[in-house]
Amino acid sequence: MSLLVQKYGGTSVASIDRIKQVAAKVLAARRAGHDLVVVVSAMAGETNRLIALAQQISDLPDDREKDVLLASGEQVSVALLTLALKEAGQPARSFLGHQVRIATDKAYGKARILSIDSTKILQSLKAGEVVVIAGFQGVDEDDNITTLGRGGSDTSAVALAAFLSAQACEIYTDVEGVYTTDPGICPHARKLARISYDEMIELASTGAKVLEIRSVEFAKNFSVPVHVRSTFTDVEGTWLINEEEGMSDVLVSGVACDRNEAKITLLKVPDRPGLAAQIFGPIAEAHIVVDMIIQNVSEDGTTDLTFTVPKADHKKALAIVEKTARAVNAKGVKVDTEMAKISIVGVGMRTHAGVAAKMFEALAREGINIEMISTSEIKISVVIQAKYTELAVRVLHEAFIGNQGMV
Ligand code: ADP
Ligand code: ASP
Ligand code: MG
Repeated sequence: MSLLVQKYGGTSVASIDRIKQVAAKVLAARRAGHDLVVVVSAMAGETNRLIALAQQISDLPDDREKDVLLASGEQVSVALLTLALKEAGQPARSFLGHQVRIATDKAYGKARILSIDSTKILQSLKAGEVVVIAGFQGVDEDDNITTLGRGGSDTSAVALAAFLSAQACEIYTDVEGVYTTDPGICPHARKLARISYDEMIELASTGAKVLEIRSVEFAKNFSVPVHVRSTFTDVEGTWLINEEEGMSDVLVSGVACDRNEAKITLLKVPDRPGLAAQIFGPIAEAHIVVDMIIQNVSEDGTTDLTFTVPKADHKKALAIVEKTARAVNAKGVKVDTEMAKISIVGVGMRTHAGVAAKMFEALAREGINIEMISTSEIKISVVIQAKYTELAVRVLHEAFIGNQGMV
């Protein structure tokens, strides 16, 4: 029998009716002859609600307790889906992260999966049950509950598919696949039949939240076939695959935006060796990921140093940076949370010149100011003011992808 891992996101389990629809989909796959491991997210809005509750108590809630709280959202969904399956006559069993031992490191709120013990899952499958596993959560070596970061149920699902050598991992969501950009922002966005793992990694890392980045890294490293598709229709979605011949003929495959970063600037930092290490060392120790960094050329022996961090971490980062700023005699620290990062991604950029210039011209025509720029082999990102996000996405989609073309 072939094993399928299916993952249903928050909107797919947002109400009891939808959970019943999901149960019907699971049953159909079961009838088609598959063994099934089903991963579910918390009901739509639940994780945000839990975060808001913690914030009513503290600006910087304790990391361990916050994970205990956030993991509760997925506990509700696994129980409800399992009840719905049983009600429909299908034997099923729910498991939380610690019960199947999804072992992670200790980085609360962004823990990495290290291993998964398949014993109980295989026993349950052997008994004819559908295995329903809580996404987004794991357990560290001291039995503390950990969570994997926003969107982390995707990673739970792909990791399970990898550790169980499943035939495929199906990611069911509220859109029909991966599009050339967020279809909620751009009416001309087109569904892609296939996308390379590398392009999807760049799109995910630059804000296309249809897949969480670590899930794509897992998929690539373990060659897991991932199929992103809709919970609400039966049409074929998007397959993640290794890069194929012909893919690099397309210059830009996707446009992504990210409003979840904050910009921090240290003003007038003394310009001397070792300073960057002194500033970024403590941030790294706090497990905060720094994305872009720019340092301005100085004439008076000082420099402004600007960098971006996830918005969710900006208060923590600020507390650390303010301390360092005092220690190194910087003039002050500024934060801006009203900014956005817009990126274009495509394997074709490796072999084509002039892409950056075309991007900057398109933005300039709309009077959009670029505050920071970063590039990789197959990606260009710019930081702009958040109020221009939608406009920038549409303009760049129009410039590089247009309204027509192959799907
Ligand atoms: P789920 O709750 O199922 O995990 P998410 O909200 O995390 O769903 O991800 C799906 C959403 O991702 C879509 O509703 C869409 O607005 C957004 N999205 C952003 N970029 C893209 C893209 N390139 N293709 C498809 N969806 C995208
Ligand atoms: N419930 C978690 C979140 O909202 C995980 C997920 O949905 O994948 O981020
Ligand atoms: Mg998601």
